[in-house]
Amino acid sequence: MAYSDKVRGVYQDTLQKIEDAGLFKTERKIFSSQAAEIEVEFPAGAPRKKVINMCANNYLGLSSHPEVVQAAHKGLDTHGYGMSSVRFICGTQDIHKELEQKVTEFLGTEDTILFPSCMDANAGVFEAILTDEDVMISDRLVHASIIDGIRLSPAMRDTFKHQNMEHLEQKLQEFENKRLKVVITDGVFSMDGDTARLDEMVALCEKYDAMLFVDDSHSSGFIGATGRGTHEKYGVMGKIDIITTTFGKALGGASGGCVSGRREIVEMCRQKARPYLFSNTIAPVVVAGVLNVLETLTKSTERRDKLERNSDYWRKGLLDAGFVLQPGDTPIIPVMLFNAKLAQNFSRDLYDEGIYAIGFFFPVVPNGAARIRTQISAAHEIHHLDKALEAFIKVGKKHNILGKSKKEIIEMYGL
Ligand SMILES: *Cc1c(COP(=O)(O)O)cnc(C)c1O
Repeated sequence: MAYSDKVRGVYQDTLQKIEDAGLFKTERKIFSSQAAEIEVEFPAGAPRKKVINMCANNYLGLSSHPEVVQAAHKGLDTHGYGMSSVRFICGTQDIHKELEQKVTEFLGTEDTILFPSCMDANAGVFEAILTDEDVMISDRLVHASIIDGIRLSPAMRDTFKHQNMEHLEQKLQEFENKRLKVVITDGVFSMDGDTARLDEMVALCEKYDAMLFVDDSHSSGFIGATGRGTHEKYGVMGKIDIITTTFGKALGGASGGCVSGRREIVEMCRQKARPYLFSNTIAPVVVAGVLNVLETLTKSTERRDKLERNSDYWRKGLLDAGFVLQPGDTPIIPVMLFNAKLAQNFSRDLYDEGIYAIGFFFPVVPNGAARIRTQISAAHEIHHLDKALEAFIKVGKKHNILGKSKKEIIEMYGL
């Protein structure tokens, strides 16, 4: 047998090492739809429990919104369940073209192409638009899917220190003679919740004749005065050459992604991007849902405004209680614990208090940077946030970290 005891042993040993290091990730079954309060079974076999969800990407609270669900039902009725084809054979409906048009308008770009996911958009775009005469210069903390996309491209690659504009400028000078240059960043960095300084990046890209790529997955729908994204926040709409984003977070939370930006770049993706050419696009039911979401967000900023108020309230509550946070002004608010096991224990204790918030640790964040990443939603009411805060304070006291500095927490728990 090919899968011999020896082979099995290799994997069992490796898995054991992951567990021993406190880095083992477990899934928790949810029995309700995604919302501010969810019904969870944890650990497996334990009684189901209603908890407040503090770690979904459901920023605008649209994942189970009745209007979105209704629009999706309608799409199911009018356009069926599946396409059974990739787009260029017979997998494109009128609503797919309509969604591309609406995303283009919403983001203020020239054109848009849908992908099965943003992971696929990132995996496909760099290979489609660059050759070995070109260079990709990425922030060192870009999302894993961008790193995969970079790996798949024949262009030369380099990085600049996280959010360090001087270093980026050095790199742009170093690669001045390349045919094409692309500077690559997340709009909002998902682990720390900080935003890329797109105004400065646009200025540098203009100075050195480079394109700018922004993955706005953690920002589309709610960052900026009308929720268009990080480019709106920094006053550079129309100046980002390539935006990728997901429909799997704020924009309804189901699935799907896109590349939006310069007309020729989108056309190159249609000709060459492999996840577009060789994988089915977004299911009609999801397209109908996202169309509804964009219509709602275009009409009113009510949901992003509530999200902003909730986020400010939550951040202030945690700071006043004496937690160490990552600085920022987004709904991603990481409570820093530094030690992986502490993060897991903290998460478990929160669960006992009815709060669902997951510990993040290596390899999702660097070693020694473990945390509970809290994410605020427009679906949260103040009473949810007050209850969650009470639980955080209780668990914080138990582990003796309230009012303690980073240095003190590391002295107590190690890295
Ligand atoms: C979530 C995320 C993705 C992946 O989105 P999917 O549509 O779920 O594949 C890509 N990039 C960033 C920055 C993300 O946060």
